[in-house]
Parts: sequence; C-alpha cells; structure tokens
Amino acid sequence: MPPSSLAPAPPPAPLPAFMAFAPPLLDEDELLEIKDTLDSLWLTKGPKCEVFETRCREYLNAESCAALSSCTAALHLGLLALGIGPGDAVVTTPLTFVSTAHAVMYVGARPLFCDIDPLDGNLSLERVRELLENSCDKGKDGLLVHRDTGRTVKALLPIHYGGFPADVPGFREAARDFRLHVLEDAAHAFGAGIAGHRVGSKAMLRPPGPDLHCLAAFSFYATKNVACGEGGLLAGPPALSARAAVLASYGISDARKIWGRYSPKGSWAYDVEELGYKSNFTDLGAALGLAQLRKFPEMQSRRRAFAEIWRRTLSDLDGELVTLPEEAGGTEAAWHLFPLRLRLERLRKSRDLILENLKTLNIGASVMFQPVHLFTYYRKALGHKEGDFPEAEAFFASEISLPMSPRHPLPLVEEAAESLRRLLINAAK
Ligand SMILES: *Cc1c(COP(=O)(O)O)cnc(C)c1O
Repeated sequence: MPPSSLAPAPPPAPLPAFMAFAPPLLDEDELLEIKDTLDSLWLTKGPKCEVFETRCREYLNAESCAALSSCTAALHLGLLALGIGPGDAVVTTPLTFVSTAHAVMYVGARPLFCDIDPLDGNLSLERVRELLENSCDKGKDGLLVHRDTGRTVKALLPIHYGGFPADVPGFREAARDFRLHVLEDAAHAFGAGIAGHRVGSKAMLRPPGPDLHCLAAFSFYATKNVACGEGGLLAGPPALSARAAVLASYGISDARKIWGRYSPKGSWAYDVEELGYKSNFTDLGAALGLAQLRKFPEMQSRRRAFAEIWRRTLSDLDGELVTLPEEAGGTEAAWHLFPLRLRLERLRKSRDLILENLKTLNIGASVMFQPVHLFTYYRKALGHKEGDFPEAEAFFASEISLPMSPRHPLPLVEEAAESLRRLLINAAK
C-alpha cells in the first residue's frame, strides 16, 4: 500500500524506446570541427588543443589549464606536480570512481578514506577534520603524520559528487590549518560553482597558504557533461599546469617542440629531462571539445530542466519513498548526475529489483558509486572491509542515478519520471 497521502497509481508503461543513461549530444558542429582537424592533417596534440585550453580557461575563469588524456591523468600528474609520492597520504572519499584512489596509488602514496556527508554524497569536511585532529600528529618538520600508517598527510582530495559542489572554502580552511594541498576531483563539475565562482576558477583555487596549492581535475570522458570520448583538464596555477604538461609529454622540457617539430620553423631536436608519461590530449578530442563548449550553456540548461522534471514529478514522494537531490544554497550544481536515494525501509522492492524494473520500462539508470574501499584490490592493498565507511556504504546501497543526458527530448523525460513515480508508489509497503 502506498503511504496514505499518496493515491494508488496505475501500472507504469514502458517508454517507446530505450532511454540510455548518458549518451552525448553531438550534431553537425562536432562533424565540422572533426573535418577541420582531419583537413589540417594533424591529429594528435597540436594547435587545436591550445585553442581548447584557452576556451576552457576563459569559461572557467581559471588561472591556467592543461588539457590531458583523461581526468585520471590529470589527478595522477596533479599529485606529481604537488610533489606527492612514496611515504605520503592523501585524504579522500570512498564514494567515487576508482581512478580517484588509483591516482594516489600510482605516485606511491596511499589514500586515507574518510566517510561522506549523506546529504550530498560529498566527502564530509567534519569527518576530515576529525581524522586530521584525532588520528594524526605533528611531525618535527611541522607536517602532519598519520599515526596508524606513519605516512605524511600531504593533500585533501574531495570530489564534487554528481556535480554538486564540495565545500571548497571549508576544505581550503582545513588545508590552511593543517598545511595541506587541495586537489579537487572535478570530473562531474564542469560548469558547477559556489557564490558565482566556477569550480576550477582562480577564485575557487586560491592557495590555502604559503607554499600550498589548489588544483582541479576535470573529465571529458564520453559520458561526462563535456564529452570528447576521452580527455581531461588540470586547472590551477601556471607553474603546476605547465609541470603537468611536461610530465604528460614523456618529460620533454618544451612540450610545444613535439608538435612544432615538423613545421617549417621546427627543429628535430629536443631534450628529455626526466621520466615523464604519455598522457597528452589530442586535436581530434579537442575538436569535439570545442564543439561541445559552444553548446555547453544550452546543454547545461537542458540538464537543469531535466532535474526540474524529475524533482517536480517525484516531489510528493520526497521524504516518503525517496530522497531527492537538491542544490545547496549559494551553489550551482552541474547536474552531471541525478542521484535518487530510495528509502528502502518503506519499499517492498530492493534497489536492484527497481533498477531491473526500470530497464524493462526502457529507462537506463545506473548506480554511482560502488564504494572504492570494498573493491578486492583495496581490501587487499589497504585492509579495508565492510562497515569501514557506513555512510558511503548506505548511500551506495540506496542510490539510483537517473538518466540526465541533454540528448533526451523533454517530453520523454516527463514520461520516464511518471513511470518511475508509478513504479515507486506500487512498490510502497
Ligand atoms: C569519470 C570519473 C573519473 C575519471 O575520468 P576519466 O577522464 O575517465 O579518467 C574520475 N573521477 C570521477 C569521480 C569520475 O566520475
């Protein structure tokens, strides 16, 4: 029986066609840019990457940007640029994509997971402060040492879960108090902001203190708000983004020489000063990115309209059968995800059965995220187990990410929302 305040609902009807979870919105504009790149006969990192970096810098109001092969690469090289390595630890969230933690492992450091705030799924500032205050000691150089692992805590790595901005000012303050860097996993947050400042902007990445830095890593993966297939961006102070660019090009000191070397004025000679990586962006990716940036404001307003539809249609179930996501005051969400949380104690169906039912209704939903600490690798590498981060585990267990692609027609989203509403009402205890 539905809760007394809700009228019984007729059974939901399937959508006329499958609504995929996150297909990109592509049109003629992408084709024209790709054609332009093909005609230029330069496919990998080159002039178009530089234009794309400039456009990103302008849009974000960032101090400096380096386009890279992925957000994973941006996190990896961002950590290296901050000088984080073996013997160090980085405080982060278990409710994220695995690459957040992997990047920390790549550099020989260890993730120190901290639980989330169940309100928005973001790393809890309160829990982070607790960890820094109660489980760490000041070493003789004034740096913080994690008591159990003996590792030096060097940075905070919050994410903007679903595109809902993390408390950046709060994390910056904690970073100042405990002498830490901040690297934001902004994979979901291109276009998100706090108090009129975009995530990744100079204002949002203000240094926490002397010799401390803030960086933000964005993703242009196929399903993200700006979709280039693969791609990433590191925003922050020029010295650090330049450092990441060198590391992304094998450690070749003047990365521009790589693509300039075949031009009439170029030279075949270059030097390699260190063991760098191969993590550069490409002009083909930048072609998609430039076209995506041109339609970005329109795509974001469609995401916003979809969020409105999901919220409006499910509003009378909020607090009864579900908990709806919402923008915190003074923030602008990028609405990468619409993370619906089920109140499982009031439903006869499990989260997974509801996902199965959605599939038969032609609605392609997903789950974000399986907590990283419970993957086999992290259980083995760090000794984690179920129950270590109860809020993240409970969030995961009750979460459904609804389709949010700007590609879907609005009336179809209305229909999907109505179907989901009926499904939930009919599943009420
Ligand atoms: C997608 C994603 C990444 C990784 O992005 P790539 O560009 O695919 O490397 C990192 N963190 C989060 C939270 C993500 O969702």
